[in-house]
Amino acid sequence: MPRGGPTGKGERMGKPNHNEQYATRYRIDDGAEFGLDDIDPGDTGGFDGGKKEAQELLQQDIERLSDLQEKLYAQDRWALLLIFQAMDAAGKDGAIKHVMSGVNPQGCEVYSFKAPSAEEMDHDFLWRTSRRVPERGRIGIFNRSYYEELLVVRVHRELLERQHLPPQLVTKHVWKERYRDINAFERYLAGNGVVVLKFFLHVSKGEQKKRFLERLDTPHKNWKFSMSDVREREHWDAYREAYGEMIRHTATKHAPWYVVPADNKWFTRLVVASAIIEALERLELAFPELDDEKRRELAEARTILERED
Ligand code: ATP
Ligand code: MG
Repeated sequence: MPRGGPTGKGERMGKPNHNEQYATRYRIDDGAEFGLDDIDPGDTGGFDGGKKEAQELLQQDIERLSDLQEKLYAQDRWALLLIFQAMDAAGKDGAIKHVMSGVNPQGCEVYSFKAPSAEEMDHDFLWRTSRRVPERGRIGIFNRSYYEELLVVRVHRELLERQHLPPQLVTKHVWKERYRDINAFERYLAGNGVVVLKFFLHVSKGEQKKRFLERLDTPHKNWKFSMSDVREREHWDAYREAYGEMIRHTATKHAPWYVVPADNKWFTRLVVASAIIEALERLELAFPELDDEKRRELAEARTILERED
């Protein structure tokens, strides 16, 4: 990804640029030393305004994103792939819905990856996701992704057995090999103009419990409740370990992880929006310049239209 120098867009509405500040604060682009304890799920990045101010800020971000997407689409060079991973009830769906609310649906596609089908399991583990990588000019969102192969499949080892891999290929190195393959895949994407940003919404165990209880207590949230979510919660520590190790191995310059505090939904959304804006601004997107022929064509079209009565 090219690094544009200072964009000069640092000051908006007379405030320091929160986009850059939040993007930098939660970005992990070298995982070697990372530990999940480094980031507090309740952190609000020193934001001292109220909820209303946060909403106004998010609204500005949504408008900024809408502008940037229009240029991304018109320029038709880069693609943006946003990957969301989290424990249940961390707010993936809400973050996607709010942050992308200003984006033109024509330039954006969301895919949710659930437990793989029989057909999907008959292929290599990157197959189903690689088919959904966004084309140039587009934004692709993965709600869960190939990273599940290092999370749920690792926590529930029996899922690996169901993948029909030749047994001699499944050794104790299987997870390391998957980190390696994913890093290579993401490097390949980056080299082809697909900007990959990965978000881990980091919620605390206490906040997850509160949200599950809310789903039980609020009739219009009942549909979101699933018994299997409560069962997965019993594996909290194993997931935590798997997430930590996954980030340590797959946080790279060309495909960074953003570990986003997720106990306050309003803050999660600000951080996600900031990271996307910051990454798009670095691309120095612009509407395509007209060449002389195109300019002549526009002048001719004007003449034709003006000739009509
Ligand atoms: P929500 O609950 O917010 O609607 P969700 O993403 O949790 O969204 P679910 O249908 O509840 O959707 O869960 C999808 C399930 O599919 C998760 O438990 C996830 O771990 C599982 N899954 C995703 N990818 C794989 C995979 N490669 N192998 C096995 N299980 C997977
Ligand atoms: Mg779920």
